[in-house]
Amino acid sequence: MVTGIIYDDRYLQHKTGHHVESPDRLIATMNLIKEMNLLESSDFTLLEPKMATVDEIKWVHDEDMIEKARLTSLKAKGGKLQCLDLGDTVLSEESFDVSLLAAGGAITAVDAILEGKVDSAFALVRPPGHHANQFRSSGFCVFNNMAIMAEYALLQENINRVAIFDIDLHHGNGTSDIFYDRDDVLFFSSHQDGRSQYPGSGFPDEIGEGKGEGYTVNVPLAPGAKDDVVQEIFSQIIKPVFLQYDPDFILGSIGCDAHHGDPLSGLAFSFQGYGNYVKGFKEIADKCCNGRVALTLEGGYRVDNVAKIVVNILHALAGKELPFVEDATASGDNLKAYHRKLMKTLKKNLGKLWTF
Ligand SMILES: [Zn+2]
Repeated sequence: MVTGIIYDDRYLQHKTGHHVESPDRLIATMNLIKEMNLLESSDFTLLEPKMATVDEIKWVHDEDMIEKARLTSLKAKGGKLQCLDLGDTVLSEESFDVSLLAAGGAITAVDAILEGKVDSAFALVRPPGHHANQFRSSGFCVFNNMAIMAEYALLQENINRVAIFDIDLHHGNGTSDIFYDRDDVLFFSSHQDGRSQYPGSGFPDEIGEGKGEGYTVNVPLAPGAKDDVVQEIFSQIIKPVFLQYDPDFILGSIGCDAHHGDPLSGLAFSFQGYGNYVKGFKEIADKCCNGRVALTLEGGYRVDNVAKIVVNILHALAGKELPFVEDATASGDNLKAYHRKLMKTLKKNLGKLWTF
């Protein structure tokens, strides 16, 4: 089994000034990958991302929004950083091209699997993408890399159903919006509850609409939730839904900001919690779609932790033992009871389509 790592130094050229979403996130990650000699091992291979075309970005985004990103990036000429949208998405002169390369990296991850070069892949890209919807860049995201990779996968003749998991601290609202009325994409997001975290959405009654009803699954976790709660929800809700959906490809939005050490986090995942979470999806992929899993990087802001989480996830994809294991504590009784109640609600809301 070979796992592809998609990376290019050009991802560092998206400059954001004093901002948590900084090039250091990828520098630290690649340094750790190199320090551990992963690229010399036969389990991993480095792949060069292709550049997405504007036509490929148009699969999911409105033309005006793409043009706004291009013009804003142009305005940043000479080092004058610019803000897109509400001000949290900062662009430098190079950002428009780097955003095309981020979307292209996501496409490359799917392509490398389809071509049989690798069995699974992780696109280590920035800027991230999952908060960008059809009409708006936001939350540090310019284009929705995940949605573009899903559309690319669905263009293939033998791929009719794609399942996406999003395990960032924040609800993947952009991806959710894009596929909300579709049944060819199953979208699952676990995130810190929107009542205490950006972007304030992703509640259990948001289950999709029209043809897409039942194909959006939101698990808003209470602040403080640890690995044990996530594992229980995975086996009782997520695994049955994914297995019944029987996808032809599984895609994952990986945010490392749900770790207990992240400066933005109200959740408390551990290093091995992340590895085991992804391992669960890989096992579903082994059953449904020849193990085809392609991931793309979203958030995560304590850079040394981002590096360790990414390395653990790479090992999970490659079927190897996780190198980073920390002392993990259990969620208290109140948190366990809260999430059991949440699971009951989810089973009720989704019971029309799925059997639990
Ligand atoms: Zn996030």
